[in-house]
Amino acid sequence: SSLFGHVEPAPKDPILGVTEAFLADPSPDKVNVGVGAYRDDNGQPVVLSCVREAERRILGNLNMEYLPMGGSIKMIEESLKLAYGEDSGFIKDKRIAAVQALSDTGACRLFADFQKRFLPDSQIYISTPTWSNHHNIWRDAQVPQKTFTYYHPESRGLDFSGLMNDIKNAPDGSFFLLHACAHNPTGVDPTEEQWREISHQFKVKKHFPFFDMAYQGFASGDPERDAKAIRIFLEDGHQIGCAQSYAKNMGLYGQRAGCLSILCEDEMQAVAVKSQLQQIARPMYSNPPVHGALVVSIILNDPELKGLWLKEVKGMADRIIGMRKALKENLEKLGSPLSWDHITNQIGMFCYSGMTPEQVDRLTNEYHIYMTRNGRISMAGVTTGNVAYLANAIHEVTK
Ligand code: PLP
Repeated sequence: SSLFGHVEPAPKDPILGVTEAFLADPSPDKVNVGVGAYRDDNGQPVVLSCVREAERRILGNLNMEYLPMGGSIKMIEESLKLAYGEDSGFIKDKRIAAVQALSDTGACRLFADFQKRFLPDSQIYISTPTWSNHHNIWRDAQVPQKTFTYYHPESRGLDFSGLMNDIKNAPDGSFFLLHACAHNPTGVDPTEEQWREISHQFKVKKHFPFFDMAYQGFASGDPERDAKAIRIFLEDGHQIGCAQSYAKNMGLYGQRAGCLSILCEDEMQAVAVKSQLQQIARPMYSNPPVHGALVVSIILNDPELKGLWLKEVKGMADRIIGMRKALKENLEKLGSPLSWDHITNQIGMFCYSGMTPEQVDRLTNEYHIYMTRNGRISMAGVTTGNVAYLANAIHEVTK
């Protein structure tokens, strides 16, 4: 018997499995609306012009030295300005412990490990549903998980009263994982007014909000607007945690450029927390990758390039918002008697369509349309060329 004889194949990742099936399908009609990465109107991956320009500036000038354990100081500085506000007093007062992280996933994992190490009896409250990897991350960090109500299937919107009840019923001082904007997979975000109520209730209960901000700028087209939830919590005097990513909003998916920050009580606490985050990173990957961090800091440091980035991120968000409108209009034109308002009410990369797993199976088997069985459509995969075909197929399987 071999040493590894007992190792069974791991279950397929539900999202990555969709892409594999799509690639294996020879049909010329095939459509991939499963993937969580932006595509242009021809279905092609995009590299932003601001990124190309930053790379031109790096070319030939970059040495390949290690970054410090906590990552690029410049990139962290710029990331904090984006999340906490250009003139944030918390930045000036050095109250934020922050390290560069392996994109959003790495930031979440680092935080989960920190939580386990320093608050070993704590749990994490995670929305139902959520990005499936959240469960894996906190599971592997051995932090017990609880769920809280979020989505309202009938309205395909927010179950606000259910959410508020779960916040009230959680033990005081609980950790909550919140999506700062563009909730994945539902595309459903609280309104500003609702965020204020949530923040108020967190204050009453002394809960700790950890924000996963994977889509800043990508949701509305404006990074400031997409940071509104975080800013509300900051105004209300919460300590918060935040995971940031440049995967979606700069298209740096494979560069793994992100940031983890924790707002502390004072500078001394922030220094201690940062040193502990570095201590956790050291035996895992020693220090983070340099290239993406440099691209990010060059862009955000240069007013002209930053202006170009803001234009380009708005361009991506606007294309997606436009495709939402087109998909809804096409379904209505076909005479679908169902309400498709949620397609345009939801925001960000995903539309939680409300289709059943059986309907999704029909889309795949009969129409070569690939997506996760929870009915989540990646709007990034919708184009002027395929929106009518997609709408027709959805209409047929939901009749
Ligand atoms: N968090 C959420 C909510 C996401 O939707 C995604 C998307 O893939 C991620 C994290 C992963 O981001 P990253 O590629 O930056 O690790």
